Amino acid sequence: AAKPKYLTGDIPAINEFIDRFDVFLLDCDGVIWSGNHVFDGVVETLELLRSRGKKTIFVTNNSTKSRQEYLQKFTGLGIPSDTEEIFGSAYSSAIYISRILKLAPPKNKVFVIGEAGIENELRSESIPFIGGTDPAFRRDMTPEDSKGLADGSLLDPEVGCVLVGLDFHINYLKLAHAFQYLRRGAVFLATNVDSTFPMNHSFFPGAGSISIPLVYMTGQEPLALGKPSQAMMDAIEGKFQLNRERTCMVGDRLNTDIKFGIEGRLGGTLAVLTGVNKQADWEVDDPIAVPAFYVDRLSDLRAAVS
Ligand code: PLP
Ligand code: CA
Repeated sequence: AAKPKYLTGDIPAINEFIDRFDVFLLDCDGVIWSGNHVFDGVVETLELLRSRGKKTIFVTNNSTKSRQEYLQKFTGLGIPSDTEEIFGSAYSSAIYISRILKLAPPKNKVFVIGEAGIENELRSESIPFIGGTDPAFRRDMTPEDSKGLADGSLLDPEVGCVLVGLDFHINYLKLAHAFQYLRRGAVFLATNVDSTFPMNHSFFPGAGSISIPLVYMTGQEPLALGKPSQAMMDAIEGKFQLNRERTCMVGDRLNTDIKFGIEGRLGGTLAVLTGVNKQADWEVDDPIAVPAFYVDRLSDLRAAVS
């Protein structure tokens, strides 16, 4: 693969880079913020891009928040935004179910493994669901549960899809329910399949690590609706009428963000070094993905003079 171009400090190259694109797809964690800490200069960088007429779209794999909840986070952190430019994997999953899968009665319900962000996006698309944050599923499995699961009497006959995202209350009972629905032919979806995610300067089990037990049980892989899945790119393209040639994906992770941009045949990919991956990660024999451009941090683009 070609060597990525390093833009930090190179003002003509930064200007040329910005001019190549109309749309910037921006990963959130590791690019805009780390947890609840906004990186210095990010607000001004977004302002610079917008003042040059660029469209900014935030694309995150974190399914624990809905677009509305993200907007609150953006606002609370002092970053001007709008729900219409936020695209999370919970939203991506909800619109995939309503507009592409088009589940119809009598099997139009979704069994959810995940948090409130998924439920809120399903509600906004009027998709019926069970599971999720319902306390009825946040407990140990009883002998009665196992009987009702085995003979099907505890199962909802309307469930036609299992959607798995990050669930901080994952347990045996939820996995056993999901398994029964999948055995009976439910469509298997995952908001995203990140193995881990960064938090508090360490890593924690990601949504992909929640769906893996079901992959093992069923021998099936879920269709993932987060980066690098092109189902997410298609959904973004459908919503924003992207010109892919004039779109750049900005991210910190090679196996999600940069791969997403390359496989989506975008005009460019920009890696930032404020998150998970570093230069050494693409300077190996068989890298997962190599960005077209990289900067130390997003705010290095501010060196561009307007
Ligand atoms: N999944 C979860 C649960 C997360 O908390 C995060 C980041 O905080 C991610 C995924 C990755 O998010 P992003 O795509 O914005 O880097
Ligand atoms: Ca990230």
